[in-house]
Amino acid sequence: MNRQKTQGKRQNREFINHLISRLLPMFFRPVYWQFKKVFHQLLNRKLLTVLTLLISTGLLIAFSCFSENAVFGEQNILITLNQNTHPLPPSLENWQDKNNSGDYFDQIQPTKHGYLIWSNFPIKVNIQTPTNINQQQAQTWVNQVSQTVMEWNNYLPLEIIENPENADIKISRQRPPLQIDPQTKVSRARSALTTYEVYTKDNILSHRFTILLSPSQTGEYLKSAARHEMGHALGIWGHSLLQTDALYFSQVREPVAISHRDVNTLKKVYQQSTNLGWKQVEN
Ligand SMILES: [Zn+2]
Repeated sequence: MNRQKTQGKRQNREFINHLISRLLPMFFRPVYWQFKKVFHQLLNRKLLTVLTLLISTGLLIAFSCFSENAVFGEQNILITLNQNTHPLPPSLENWQDKNNSGDYFDQIQPTKHGYLIWSNFPIKVNIQTPTNINQQQAQTWVNQVSQTVMEWNNYLPLEIIENPENADIKISRQRPPLQIDPQTKVSRARSALTTYEVYTKDNILSHRFTILLSPSQTGEYLKSAARHEMGHALGIWGHSLLQTDALYFSQVREPVAISHRDVNTLKKVYQQSTNLGWKQVEN
């Protein structure tokens, strides 16, 4: 009796085991595949969202650093009869690109004063110490920006000075005003803004730049923004179409150093004529 019971139990167990081993996969396999499908769809969608975000972020930053609007005090400026070229500083004169990497000079816009060329060297740069963050953070910020600014010193003589009054280029940690899209009227945050103004000093037509670097930029992005904006302030008044150039029109995930193409373009700009740095002649 007992043996029969035990045998019956064993048969039941075997039957249940059989059911589990045959039926469970039949049940779970579609569930598993369904799960896998949904998971992949979610993953793809998420990736897509991330990509869209990256692309739109890129577009948001595109051109945001670049503004030609702020040209002040021109009503008092007399127009020169002749535009002329300036001799290149030796560092730029001696620059040779052995790789012939080319340039993007065709993307550079001359202004009505000609190209934005410096002729009085060294170019004086003032980096304002931020006051609304702690001293250590402020020092780090100044150090990072200074290091980046001085990268350009290999091509054009630069000097960092303390007094903003005498500066040709002033850099500060300040949120640039929002940019309003003329078509959609949507306002957008900018990562940086570079503007210039033209004035006369001892009858010589001169210019000075202001660079605002948004507090949202830190670390490599801060350096990348400072490098890029300095390129504009030194005369590269336009953007490259290649991501491998510091003056690429959009911020990239992996910031790049000043490229040969950047320097080739800078050199070509400095070979052009300009009103800047020349005595004004009355009409
Ligand atoms: Zn720019």
